[in-house]
Amino acid sequence: MKTNHWSSKQLQTYLTEYKHRLVSSTNYPESISIDESWHELLNKIRESTLHDGHERWSFIGIKQEKIYLRNPLKGGKNTIPSHITYTAEEIAKREGIPIIGTIHSHPIGSIEKLLWQLFRRNIFTGGFSSGDLFALASTNTEVVMVLAAYNENVIALKTVETDSAAFNLKGSMQVKFMEEWDIKPMMSWKRGIQIAKKYRIVLYKGLPNQKLRKVIGNY
Ligand SMILES: [Zn+2]
Repeated sequence: MKTNHWSSKQLQTYLTEYKHRLVSSTNYPESISIDESWHELLNKIRESTLHDGHERWSFIGIKQEKIYLRNPLKGGKNTIPSHITYTAEEIAKREGIPIIGTIHSHPIGSIEKLLWQLFRRNIFTGGFSSGDLFALASTNTEVVMVLAAYNENVIALKTVETDSAAFNLKGSMQVKFMEEWDIKPMMSWKRGIQIAKKYRIVLYKGLPNQKLRKVIGNY
């Protein structure tokens, strides 16, 4: 049954059990809360990235039927090199921890920073990149992607409709996918919304330490 809000506990229960009951976009609530430990991690990686301009990355796994957050790793200025994610995935595999999603941070661009300062609104900042959304849409093991952007948190969740919308995406197509989307002249946040719509991904946004509201995803 659809509810308007999921507490952090409801979200965690959903994430640990999603393989049995991935919901459709309209059954995701209008707002969600996330656990204090998620907020702490998001604030920490946001700060670190603001300080040195390097992205941070961590995976979300399940350990003893509970959500498990790995310590964040330092990436590059615009990407998380694949050897970093590969090593983390190998460690998780060895420890028997299924990975159900990822958390990462983005450095702030100067235009985004200016818009934020001018409007104090989060409509222009902090979207997922085309590569991020490709990774989520094309994986069949992960359901959630969490982003610590400048002054806001963004969460993308797959829906039961994503698999059929993205059935033809293969991991090897990521570079071509990014080239095709990034050439389109639009703000990154708008691009993110268009990709999310196409692949039936639900997006939530919220200020640090606050609940997140659904910004796209009643398909
Ligand atoms: Zn990203």
